[in-house]
Amino acid sequence: MTAFPKKILRIAAVLCILTGTLAGCKASGKGSPGAANQPPFMSAVASTPPQTPDDALPPEKTGGFDGKRAFAHVAKQVSFGPHPSGSPAIAQVQDYLLSELESYRCTVETDAFSSDTPIGRLSMKNILVKIPGEKPGIILLGTHYDTLLMDNFVGADDAGSSTAVMLELARLLCSQKGKYAVWIAFFDGEEAMKHWSDSDSRYGSRQMAARLSTSGDIKKIRAFLLADIVGGRNARFLREASSTPTLVDLVWSTAAKLGYSAIFLNESTSAEDDHDSFLKRGVPAVDVIGDFVNNGYWHTPQDALDKISARTLAFTGHVLLESVKQLQSK
Ligand SMILES: [Zn+2]
Repeated sequence: MTAFPKKILRIAAVLCILTGTLAGCKASGKGSPGAANQPPFMSAVASTPPQTPDDALPPEKTGGFDGKRAFAHVAKQVSFGPHPSGSPAIAQVQDYLLSELESYRCTVETDAFSSDTPIGRLSMKNILVKIPGEKPGIILLGTHYDTLLMDNFVGADDAGSSTAVMLELARLLCSQKGKYAVWIAFFDGEEAMKHWSDSDSRYGSRQMAARLSTSGDIKKIRAFLLADIVGGRNARFLREASSTPTLVDLVWSTAAKLGYSAIFLNESTSAEDDHDSFLKRGVPAVDVIGDFVNNGYWHTPQDALDKISARTLAFTGHVLLESVKQLQSK
């Protein structure tokens, strides 16, 4: 999940009152788990009609990144139903991620831990792919893979899309050796269990940042590229205000060079997300995040597979892949 600064929340609330529509109004209800009287982990996929991917550009046009493969990863995650932290379904997602990463011959580390949350102590698991480099220094990529605790919420875009993109990047990158190491993090527990705050959110990324501080590895991270909500059919990406400006410039100039200026816009937005866990520890970081404020389905049960575009996934994957290349050349 991503939270807004209060100002944007207020604007969203005013818009809701003015327009009387539901679009965007859920922004102010982001803290509601909506699961008080229901079994929280009930599967909701039975009623979802089958979806087919739209036309992704062929992989040779997107640096080898296969948008259709990425779409299939989103569909698979959605098929497990809602998978908030600590649920039986998230264990199936973890198994799926691990078996895919193994099939790409990635070196993978897992960190099982538990977190005290407003709804009790929950088991969580971070997954970290480590691709070695020739020189000291780490380029970190990341996504969360837990879904918001809400009835019938399968999180196709939040965060099935970015999880799918990271899987496809792992497939491409695990067989390569660059100047610097590339690590790919799959965080559990990004979403708040009740109300977004520094203590009720980002459980997984806070855990990983703390561990990497203890080990000293955090100092080696040259850049952290986080992706979240990156697969919408009409996705637009705005420059996230708290992100490190030089990294935002790097990603946005890469997108422009690849011809994606109509999607990667020079407007700004603000999001609280897993990058904050690393920014707070001095790591340069950028959140590549779709314009969730205006997508009309953020943190609602409408965030389903029909919102996802293989084409958008391929654009995002291409931009991240080329951004990594840029970072490898520095
Ligand atoms: Zn979310």
